[in-house]
Amino acid sequence: MAKPYPELVSVFDIFKIGVGPSSSHTMGPWKAARQFLLDFEAFMPLETIQKLRIFLFGSLAKTGKGHGTDFAILLGLQGESPETTDTALIRARVAQIKAQQQLSLLYRHSIPFYYETDLRFVGQESLPFHPNGMRFEADYGGEMPFAQQYYSVGGGFIVKEGEPPQRRLSGQLPYPTQTPTDLQDWCLQTQKPISALVWENERYWRSEEDIRAGLLRIWHTMRACMYRGGHAEGELPGGLRVIRRAAQMNLRLLEGKSCASPEEWQATLQGLGPDFQKTLRWVSCFALAVNEENADFGRVVTAPTNGPRGVIPAVLMYYVCFHKSVSEEDICKFLLTAGEIGSLFKKGATISAAMGGCQAEIGVSSAMAAAALTERLGGSPLQALMAAEIAMEHHLGLTCDPIGGLVQIPCIERNSMGAIKAITAAQIALESDPAGPGSLDAVIQTMMRTARDMSDKYKETAEGGLAVQIPINVIEC
Ligand code: SF4
Repeated sequence: MAKPYPELVSVFDIFKIGVGPSSSHTMGPWKAARQFLLDFEAFMPLETIQKLRIFLFGSLAKTGKGHGTDFAILLGLQGESPETTDTALIRARVAQIKAQQQLSLLYRHSIPFYYETDLRFVGQESLPFHPNGMRFEADYGGEMPFAQQYYSVGGGFIVKEGEPPQRRLSGQLPYPTQTPTDLQDWCLQTQKPISALVWENERYWRSEEDIRAGLLRIWHTMRACMYRGGHAEGELPGGLRVIRRAAQMNLRLLEGKSCASPEEWQATLQGLGPDFQKTLRWVSCFALAVNEENADFGRVVTAPTNGPRGVIPAVLMYYVCFHKSVSEEDICKFLLTAGEIGSLFKKGATISAAMGGCQAEIGVSSAMAAAALTERLGGSPLQALMAAEIAMEHHLGLTCDPIGGLVQIPCIERNSMGAIKAITAAQIALESDPAGPGSLDAVIQTMMRTARDMSDKYKETAEGGLAVQIPINVIEC
């Protein structure tokens, strides 16, 4: 009999289409801003709001400018959605709000808004529940302003002060999992691969057509992002003077050939012969392309968050382009397995860099990709779990110290490293006899303990490591 478990996470919670550069610092605050107005509307009409103040605390205040938190909040208050907003217009929209000193709430009610004083970065203070705290206050004519606090807890998830974490999903899944051991037990009991169990769990919430369409939409968004990043030149915003490299790399690897669409690009790559050096460079190129797009407010997919969003597309594209006869079905299975591993880290530890450093981002995405690739290359469920374990073991203790709070250095290259480690972890696991049950459980617990031991300087605050060795002034995007 299946045990009821408290936390339910869908593969579509792990892979969400949105906007860069950060899920915790961009997509979460974006969602919280919109949520605040919906909460206000449940209390009073939106049109009664006269003034709005937003306070960002802790990590959001310390690295929010570099992560585009201010942009996200303003667009969320306007009612834009990260999934559908025109990313090419983001900067212009924010510039207009600043210049006109007017903010149209949900595009229905305009109020005066002074960016410098109404949006405050309170770096010296943290709210108690989580380092990514924010408070919204609305003056509406009552004695006290209507105020609400929210936390962005990683991967675009938010929690409202005083309420338990939002439970979007409910129900009794056929194969509930809280730990890797649960997953392993179900696999052994049913003799099914991880992806098949996750598919059946997802079926509890959606039709087969919706799951398939949703997974392929995620894949197409990832591929389009790699294609755009592989064809865009120039300097990334923020003042670090980082030059995009993926496009030049793509051009050199294609030896001058050009491709007019993501589909043509994929087909061209699939026609390339085996060449270890080139394949290695392609994996880096894919990861760089995604992360350069992410740093430039491009459309990306969380995997499981935004910082490491290049790892899974890079490994998946490597699988699609450099292995024989990979079908859309295989791509869906890859994403199902990867999503399940991400959910186990979310349930057992954290996927938030503000809680766990970069091990919780690049480390988790590398583990997700390693398990998915292992399964697709014929590995057993135990080998897939072993690959995830190997990938995370070699990211334990990885700190988050982005220079200038921008998701650029070391983040962009770190995605290439995470992708390569995932491929190596899969190869090692495929050559191994899995050690026995429980190893990934132990690694997830170790990651969480390491996170607790880690100084706050290394948890997305830009107060330690590279961020202090190479200080820069962030330039407004
Ligand atoms: S250092 Fe790692 S966790 Fe921190 S912002 Fe960069 S990619 Fe994300």
